[in-house]
Amino acid sequence: MRRIRMVYVAAILVIIAIAASATFLMKPPQAEKLSYNDFIKAVDEGKVEKVYLNDSDVITGTYTDGRAFSTDNPRKEGFKEELLKKDIVVDERIKQMQIEQTGGIILTLGIFGVALLLFQKRAKQAQGGFGKSVLLSPEENIKVTFDSIAGNAEAKESMQELIDFIKYPDKYARYGARLPRGVILYGPPGTGKTLMAKAVAGEAGVPFFAVSGSDFVQVYVGVGAARIRDLFKKARESGKCVIFIDEIDAMGKKRDGGPEGGSNDERDQTLNALLSEMSGFNDNEGIVVIAATNRLDTLDEALLRPGRFDRHIEIELPDVNSRLRILELHSRNKPLDKDVDLRKVARQTAYFSGAKLESLLNEAAIIAARSDCGHIRMEDIDKAFYTVIAGAEKKDRSTIAQRDREITAHHEAGHALVTKLIAPENRVTKVTIIPSARGAGGFSMNIPPDRMYHRKVDMENSIKIALAGRAAEELVFGPENITTGAANDLERATSILLDMVRRFGMKEKSGLLNYDVLYRNGFAQVQADVVNDIKAYMDDLYAITLDMLKANMHVLKRIANSLLEKESLDENDLEAVILSTKAAV
Ligand code: ADP
Ligand code: ZN
Repeated sequence: MRRIRMVYVAAILVIIAIAASATFLMKPPQAEKLSYNDFIKAVDEGKVEKVYLNDSDVITGTYTDGRAFSTDNPRKEGFKEELLKKDIVVDERIKQMQIEQTGGIILTLGIFGVALLLFQKRAKQAQGGFGKSVLLSPEENIKVTFDSIAGNAEAKESMQELIDFIKYPDKYARYGARLPRGVILYGPPGTGKTLMAKAVAGEAGVPFFAVSGSDFVQVYVGVGAARIRDLFKKARESGKCVIFIDEIDAMGKKRDGGPEGGSNDERDQTLNALLSEMSGFNDNEGIVVIAATNRLDTLDEALLRPGRFDRHIEIELPDVNSRLRILELHSRNKPLDKDVDLRKVARQTAYFSGAKLESLLNEAAIIAARSDCGHIRMEDIDKAFYTVIAGAEKKDRSTIAQRDREITAHHEAGHALVTKLIAPENRVTKVTIIPSARGAGGFSMNIPPDRMYHRKVDMENSIKIALAGRAAEELVFGPENITTGAANDLERATSILLDMVRRFGMKEKSGLLNYDVLYRNGFAQVQADVVNDIKAYMDDLYAITLDMLKANMHVLKRIANSLLEKESLDENDLEAVILSTKAAV
């Protein structure tokens, strides 16, 4: 479909080029300005070859050597005859040229119109012929199952429910349960989102429709929307099924209101068609729409509302254990030599996605086949390793990755340790150094949700926890080596602190005033006061956090090392590490 668009653009460019050169050719040449007397002199000396006559104030002509001139129009009767008698060619082309030019414009417009009609017809054809295209014929008898996916245990568990729903929609209908219409899988490329969607179809034993969001982004208003309706019509005809929309962001990007943001009729119509189709099917139809995107936060909120894509499942980059399982899975059909240590390969491939691991093994198989010695050896995998990561950087990427890993490990360990030290009732569900869709490292904490009020001490603790990542970096690597990794933490800390001072009257110095009210009533000075106040407050909290980590440096190091080794720690792992060091709380 993209080709049609490119052909269309190319055609417009050609037409513009033709039109431009036509106008350019018809333009009279650039002329030297002559006084009328000099003109007469030139005529008398026989230097003038041609004069263009018209009835404007200026006439033009050419010398015998081809140069052009212009001079005042004498508007004299018999002027033409006078010139003709001197063997000068007289041309009334300007008049003619105007006619030619109009003709040219008409011609250009004509070409343009015909081109438009042609392309519109082709676009229509593409639309009409869509049903016959590969795109819209579902894949049946899917062999992919959950066994084809290694790791991603949590995501699989969430999807299990969906499979049950596709298989037994009536059961859910009987209980009045409204099940998710749409699920969004989000996470970095190559982590197996497509695979996951396909496995759902495979597990449920239903057809699988796969499209891409970019297939629906069209030049012509309404084409994308028509395609959506077509897709859902086909899906309904096939009964129960899974519809997979890859790159949903192509059609459902947030309207950013930027220069070209604003309104985009085609995209809005396509999006609306999708939403209305989704709310159009019955609860017991057994049709599920699964969409994939790399980033959830760029999607239009309209897509994420209840009854639409209201279930969001993160698909993460694999940690070292999952990488091992993916490697094992993809080497099942490959003759690995005895000396191949997949665990070691898993450790060397931090930040690799499932797709990259697969291509690593494939590359190794190709190298092995070339030397044809019967097995894939460790050295083949080592060579493949450089092929797979090459191109990106010439430098030894593993050392760069190692530095990043150490920084992330200490940063995340800082968050986790401070949480355990000051708010042991808070659960740290997971600490990881594998980047997530949300940010560089990964640290998730469950604050007990059933609190109606937040105490001052809770808010201060949250700030200390947020600052602990930066504090750990500073203590371990030195003030010169602090990183940009703390950006989100600082944003969070600042907004909590600002609320405490501005809205909740929690700081003695700023008192029980609501600073928004003051500001609204013209006390403009308060802005600067608040900034000074919260800065001093933040400095205090940071100093306390630094001291806390300094006093527990050995625990911090232990957690960081454990993270470097295992890449992610759950609650029990974390407790075990802390216990083993007998942290001084
Ligand atoms: P995405 O849709 O997230 O970009 P894909 O589903 O297209 O990723 O993954 C591409 C390929 O990478 C898959 O076909 C599979 O071979 C491999 N792969 C990715 N993740 C996994 C995984 N968790 N387990 C097994 N194979 C995986
Ligand atoms: Zn952080």
